[in-house]
Amino acid sequence: MDPLRFYNTLNHRKEEFRPVEPGQVRLYTCGPTVHDYAHLGNFRAYVFEDVLRRTLKFFGYRVLQVMNLTDVDDKTIRKSREKGISLAEYTRTYKEAFFKDLDGLRIERAEKYPAATDHIPEMVELIQKLIEKGHTYEVEGSLYFRISSFPQYGRLANVKAEGLRAGLRVDLDEYEKEDVRDFALWKNWTPEDGDVFWETSLGKGRPGWHIECSAMSTKYLGTHFDIHTGGMDNIFPHHENEIAQSVCGYGDRFVNYWLHCAHLVVNGEKMSKSLNNFFTLRDIKDAGISPRAVRYFLLSAHYRQPLNLVYDPATSKTDSFDAAKGALDRIDELRTKLAEFKEYSVAGDQRSRSVNDLLDESQMAFKNALANDLDISGALGVLFSLVKDVNKLLSSGEVTAADALAVEERLKSWDTVLGVMEPDAEADIDAEAIDRLIAERNEARKTKNFARSDEIRKIIDDMGIILQDTPQGVRWRRK
Ligand code: AMP
Ligand code: ZN
Repeated sequence: MDPLRFYNTLNHRKEEFRPVEPGQVRLYTCGPTVHDYAHLGNFRAYVFEDVLRRTLKFFGYRVLQVMNLTDVDDKTIRKSREKGISLAEYTRTYKEAFFKDLDGLRIERAEKYPAATDHIPEMVELIQKLIEKGHTYEVEGSLYFRISSFPQYGRLANVKAEGLRAGLRVDLDEYEKEDVRDFALWKNWTPEDGDVFWETSLGKGRPGWHIECSAMSTKYLGTHFDIHTGGMDNIFPHHENEIAQSVCGYGDRFVNYWLHCAHLVVNGEKMSKSLNNFFTLRDIKDAGISPRAVRYFLLSAHYRQPLNLVYDPATSKTDSFDAAKGALDRIDELRTKLAEFKEYSVAGDQRSRSVNDLLDESQMAFKNALANDLDISGALGVLFSLVKDVNKLLSSGEVTAADALAVEERLKSWDTVLGVMEPDAEADIDAEAIDRLIAERNEARKTKNFARSDEIRKIIDDMGIILQDTPQGVRWRRK
C-alpha cells in the first residue's frame, strides 16, 4: 500500500507523511471566531479537517487534535457591547451552536477545544520571550512584532517581506491580504474595549488575534508538531504570523506539514459573512435539507479544489444538495438490498470468488486514493463502482449471504472515513422546521396551491419524515 502523501503548503509540493513520533499525529486546526453562527464555508474547512483526521485513523495513526475557539477579538467585543452583554455571555451562544453543528455534520470531536480567554497567561509568556529576543516594539502601549527581524517571513505564503517601511503596522484583527505589515501581539486597552481587558505584565489590554494559536498549539502539542491546517485565507497573514511568533519565541521548528483547503464559493466568490452570500447549517436545515447531504456535498470535491455551491432557496434551486442526495440514495439502496438479502438468502455461508476479488481490489484502490493527498474523488469513484458491481452480481445471483455481509462490513469500514452512510440522528431532526413546513403546507392546500403543497410534502419526505392526517390535524413521525 502507498504511504500517505500530503500537499505541504510550506514546500509547495506533495510530500510523504512521517510524524515526529511514529504512530502518533499531532494536529492543530484553526477554529471559529465565535461572533456568529459558522457558515457552510467554515464547515468546508472543518469537514476537510475531519476527513483528514479520520483518514489518519483509518491508516492506523493515533491522533491528538486541538482546535482553538477565538472568543475575544475586535468583532466579538464590538458585538457583545452592541448587545449590552458580557463577552462570555455573548460568545457562549455561538460556542454551543458550533458544537451542535459539528454533531449534525458528523464531525468527530477534537481532543481539545481551548478558548483564547482561558489562555491569556500562556500568550503573555510567549510575548515576553519575543520581547527578550528583540522581535517587538511598542507604540502607545501596544506591542508589535517586527517582521524584518525574521528573515524567513513570507515563506509559507510566498510573499516578499523585503523593503518593509519601518513602523508600517496594523492592529486590526482582520486586514487586507497581500499587505505585509508588522502585526499586533498585544493591544493596549481603549474605551471601545469596555470591560474586556486583562491586567498583565504587558499592561492593561488584550492579545492580538494571531498569538493565541502559537501559544495554545504549543501548550497542547509541543513546540514542534506534525500538521497544521485551515482554509486558504488563513495562509496569509494568520499562519505566516504564527510561524514568525512560534519560531522566534520558542526557537523550534514549529510545524512540519501545512495543509490548506480551497474555498467554498458561490458564483465564483468566496462564501463569507462580509459578502453576505452565506448560509448557516440552520438555514439549510430549515429548508428541509438533511445535514447528511450537506456533509456529503462538502466532502465530495478534492480539498484543494474550489467547491461551488449551487443553491438558491428563493427559486427552490438545490442542485448541490440534490446531487449529494442522489449519491447517498444509491448507497442506501444497495445497503437495503444487502440487508434484505442477508435475511432471506438461503445461498449459504461460502464467500464467492468474484465478490472476494472485488472487495480486495477496491480496498486497495480506496486506500491508495486517500493516501494520495486525500483524493476523495478517487475514493468515491471506487465506492460507486463497487456499488455498481455488487448490484450487477446481485441481479445475476452470484452473491451469497456471507458475501452480502462482507460487502456491508467493507462499506461500514470506509464510512469511518466518509461518515455519510448512517441516517441523521434524531437530534438533527428540527421539529420546529417541520411544524413550520406543515403549517405552510396547510396554507398552500387552503389556497389550492397544490404545486407548492406537493413540493413541501417532498421536502418533508426527503427529511425522512412521514405525515399522517389525524382527526387532530397533521401529525409527523420518522420513517
Ligand atoms: P473564521 O471564523 O473566519 O476564522 O474561519 C474559520 C475557518 O473557516 C478558517 O479555517 C477559514 O479559513 C475557514 N473558511 C472561512 N470561509 C471559508 C470558505 N468560504 N471556504 C472554506 N473555508 C473557509
Ligand atoms: Zn489559528
